[in-house]
Amino acid sequence: MKIHAIQTGTVALTASWREGVGHGRRRMLNTLLDREWTGPLPIYAFAIEHPEGVIVVDTGETARVTEPGYFPRWQPFFRFAVRERVEPEEEIGPQLERLGVTPSDVRMVVLTHLHTDHAGGLHHFPSNQILVSRTEMEYATGVRGRLRGYINKRWPAWFSPTTVDLPPAPFGPFPQSLPLTEAGDVILVPVPGHSPGQVGVIVEEGDHTVFLAADSSYTESAMLRGVVDGIGADEDAECLTLERIRAYAAETPTVYLASHDPDTAARLAERKTVGEAPEQVRA
Ligand SMILES: [Zn+2]
Repeated sequence: MKIHAIQTGTVALTASWREGVGHGRRRMLNTLLDREWTGPLPIYAFAIEHPEGVIVVDTGETARVTEPGYFPRWQPFFRFAVRERVEPEEEIGPQLERLGVTPSDVRMVVLTHLHTDHAGGLHHFPSNQILVSRTEMEYATGVRGRLRGYINKRWPAWFSPTTVDLPPAPFGPFPQSLPLTEAGDVILVPVPGHSPGQVGVIVEEGDHTVFLAADSSYTESAMLRGVVDGIGADEDAECLTLERIRAYAAETPTVYLASHDPDTAARLAERKTVGEAPEQVRA
């Protein structure tokens, strides 16, 4: 199966956004007030070329983020703690075209969660089925969604995704799961914490799996150390998710791909599994 990591521009964050400092409200404040920044980090979306049709996971960010007023001025995180850069040709639409994938090849689009850098390319998929967890959709919609940092006014007017509830079918350490293909080899699992309805996508490839982990952590190293980010909605849920991912990776060779990890594309290309990470070999 071919899996493409599609980089739709970059995002720089405060250092305490990538790895949270402190707990509760203080953790959020640290994220906002930190003067130290990460370098530009990739914003990845993915395309799985499956025999049953292409599954797109996340839509990346849009080049419109550089337009003045694209993000609401009152939203402190966008003013003080995040800087995105996307060129028009870096949007997911033109990149899929360059890969030879037409919109009609796309069987479905899965949104791991609804943050702007995962939902910013939605306008490229007006005629496709789009899947979002019901929990995420409810959390991200309306005024409350906006207060929680979702840029839902920028969603296309036609946006009305298929909302899914993951059934109570355990998959390894994950208490729920939902296969997306007839073959049962592409599976949604819950990875709440960073956002309440975040889902991960597991792709089975023979003796290993590829785990599209969204923003469960910003790096593989943070996942292994159990370090949560600086903005996640629920710290405890985030910790539990990281614990489950570690348990999963301990029983199944797993290529762990976080959406903003600079090593994601190389890990995917080499199918480098979690135990093989250089920092693990040295430890
Ligand atoms: Zn996110």
